[in-house]
Amino acid sequence: MTDELPRKDAAADSGAGDAFPAPGQPLLRIEGVAKSFGTFRAVDGVSLDIKAGEFFALLGPSGCGKTTLLRMLAGFEAPDEGRILLGGKDIAQALPHERPINMMFQNYALFPHLSVRDNIAFGLKRARLARADIATRVAEMVALVKLDGLEKRKPDQLSGGQRQRVALARALARRPQLLLLDEPLAALDKKLRESTQGELMELQRRLGMTFIIVTHDQEEAMTMADRIGVMKSGKLAQVAPPRELYEAPRSRWIAEFVGDINLFDGESKLRDGHRLVIGTRDAGALVVAEPREQVGAGRLAVAIRPEKVKLSRRGPVSEAGRETAINRLDGVIADICYLGGTTTYKVKLDTGGVLQASVANSARIDVDAYSLNQHVVAWFTPDDCVVLQS
Ligand code: ATP
Repeated sequence: MTDELPRKDAAADSGAGDAFPAPGQPLLRIEGVAKSFGTFRAVDGVSLDIKAGEFFALLGPSGCGKTTLLRMLAGFEAPDEGRILLGGKDIAQALPHERPINMMFQNYALFPHLSVRDNIAFGLKRARLARADIATRVAEMVALVKLDGLEKRKPDQLSGGQRQRVALARALARRPQLLLLDEPLAALDKKLRESTQGELMELQRRLGMTFIIVTHDQEEAMTMADRIGVMKSGKLAQVAPPRELYEAPRSRWIAEFVGDINLFDGESKLRDGHRLVIGTRDAGALVVAEPREQVGAGRLAVAIRPEKVKLSRRGPVSEAGRETAINRLDGVIADICYLGGTTTYKVKLDTGGVLQASVANSARIDVDAYSLNQHVVAWFTPDDCVVLQS
């Protein structure tokens, strides 16, 4: 099995014949790119830099313009505005097959009448590689995606996961500098999707290639990507590493789109040293750590992820010298959702609102689990809160 695909060799026929930039060097620059269909602006002024060796995810709800952006990178659509530079060169005039970029389609787009081997060889034949080189490359690809023994089968004689691998092998065969993957795992069941996520990451690292993946599955983006660009209505709403996106969302929309979150609307704010005290309608006054960015006047929201909320029967035990709880809220358990690894409790607060708390089920027999209508104290620290401008 061919586990190694040397980077130098990988550059050899990547389309434009350019050498791969070293990892971390700028590879792709998207400058103010826009695309309209009729009067509808599907992509609305996107600017983004991608580094060589990066695994980047474009995440967003259906119809936000992810695929359209990807299709412009691949050369299947022409931007109305802006420039796309690869390795510093404008690729506007390059046809799709002339770009050192390949795209793996959502439906895999395999040729039904061709075998696995011929599907993988298709682009290599079109690039007029020598027969012997094609045979060597196909064998490498088959080994790389673990399809040994299935070379003669047609796509309809393969499982969904195997078809996905053929599509991946075909997309990698010409050794592109940049691989675009449009919802590559959408057709797979949950278990297979999870194991394939790991394989894709491993492959990307091993090949030292740059991947841009389009997905509307946030867990998938979080698991796989070095950075995530969240798209909303044709624009990039935030670009950040997964942890930053989750822990420091830039807007209320992102906070709600990425993961579960408790949001409490507030208006007034008072400064208390390095803290802000925000008066909320449904959770009373909440003390929050001062955000890095200036909070302006007007409506605010305090956001707390459910796993940051602690529950107990009597409230937090204060540890000497440690501030264990600044925000303490009393309430009763109004809903329980057992999810295996965690249980989500909805707490109806005495102040009127509802607070979600996600508690890890760390013991198999949990005698301390809460029951419906039980009185509980919920608490979280100022650092657990994010202030969002509404
Ligand atoms: P999904 O996750 O559902 O695939 P997406 O974020 O990839 O969505 P796009 O496929 O980029 O979204 O589409 C963005 C918008 O542009 C949608 O409203 C879509 O209907 C519209 N659109 C895309 N292609 C065309 C086209 N060829 N003609 C007209 N409208 C189009």
